[in-house]
Amino acid sequence: MLNEFSSALNESPCTQSGARAPFSYQLDDTEFWRHIPAWSEIDSKTFGDHRWQQRNSITTLARIRETLGELVGSTLIDDIDAGLMRTRMNLRLTPYVFSRINWANAENDPVRRQFIPLGSQFIADHPLAMDDSLAEDSNKVTPYLIHRYPDKALFLPTTLCPVYCSFCTRSRVVGGSTAVKSKSTYGAKPLGWDSTFDYISNHPEIEDIVISGGDVLLLRPKQISQIGISLLSIPSVRRIRFATKGVAIMPMKFTSDIEWVEALREVSRLGRDLMKEVSLHTHFNTDREITVWTSRAMKTLTDIGVRVRNQSVLINGVNNSLDCLRYTMKKLANLLIQPYYIYQHDLVPGCEHLRTTVRKSEGMSLGLQGSMAGFNTPRVVCDAPGGGGKREISSYILYDQEIGVSVWTSPAAKPGAIFYYYDPIHLLEEKGQAIWANPSAIDSRLAKVRAEATARLDFAE
Ligand code: SF4
Repeated sequence: MLNEFSSALNESPCTQSGARAPFSYQLDDTEFWRHIPAWSEIDSKTFGDHRWQQRNSITTLARIRETLGELVGSTLIDDIDAGLMRTRMNLRLTPYVFSRINWANAENDPVRRQFIPLGSQFIADHPLAMDDSLAEDSNKVTPYLIHRYPDKALFLPTTLCPVYCSFCTRSRVVGGSTAVKSKSTYGAKPLGWDSTFDYISNHPEIEDIVISGGDVLLLRPKQISQIGISLLSIPSVRRIRFATKGVAIMPMKFTSDIEWVEALREVSRLGRDLMKEVSLHTHFNTDREITVWTSRAMKTLTDIGVRVRNQSVLINGVNNSLDCLRYTMKKLANLLIQPYYIYQHDLVPGCEHLRTTVRKSEGMSLGLQGSMAGFNTPRVVCDAPGGGGKREISSYILYDQEIGVSVWTSPAAKPGAIFYYYDPIHLLEEKGQAIWANPSAIDSRLAKVRAEATARLDFAE
């Protein structure tokens, strides 16, 4: 069974040893989870039940060992153990996503790499990495609302998720404390949301609300209704977006949790009645997360009138090949999931092995343009560290590639401000790495970049 699964994966350009184009858009409709020893007897009906998925989620190393049995050796288990001692994100994977990992080559597997840390893969953090790279905490206006841009706000009703991603931007708060990071994670507390709704009502300039977290998949149906109806009822709110990785990591939620889907249907209907948009933003990074279960989930979401868009993160060793990205975006578009953004990996700690350079992302952006319909071509962006917002990847005003420092402005949202992104040092040429290793050399080079950026500011804006 494992051999069949492994060879099926070789059809994917997101598998390092994968075949070359042309690729088929066929969806995996096999019982792929049966290659996992603990689930070899699980039938499709059981696997397709969201409650079974949640009950059987993998949250400890002991569960990994028990579930995989003889499928993996002690070297890998020890490496995961070492990874768990260094990661800022706890372990949580649904059986769906856990069984999309090719355990015959787990070390290089793009799905494993997103969710299960290996001690051997960690690299020291960039000296200028930031706990809160997007400056969200300093723009918090209620305990659950971040208001960074004039017409948009971010509502975070929970910081729990059905899976925990090693690259999470909100690793400072999402998913509970780990050996190296203590956090104030919180679950949904609807009684505390009124101040958020009041704030939005009192700020009519806010037209767009992103409801994220955490993941809205873990909200109860009545919480989905409460949030959706309250927000849509505010006259100045024109669009709401529910953010969930659910379509990618637990698609059976949309076919088996009838009450939850009904709540979303009710919100969607109200949106249509009021001529306001209700959409769902999801998060696939490779085609490996797309199966026939995705298409079933999308059939439900399409039927209830919810538009679905995708936001990916460009991750080293996961999807940093043009073939992989192009194929993943096309496959998503075929299922009515509109590719929206591909993000430069944020400058957060604990992720140095997962980040790439701005130059690499520019290459991806150039390669994607013109290879699919314009409305399905995602925008490759850098969310400028410090709160500059999403900037087109080639719109920096300065890029010192030798030391990997790009400089950004944000004239509409933050006029007069300058933002810096730092490429991973280990991906720079030797000379750049040597400059970072020499404190006085890097100080004077950074001072030069800052001076040049300031001189260009007037011209850039
Ligand atoms: S699902 Fe989103 S919020 Fe949750 S851990 Fe992953 S990236 Fe972070």
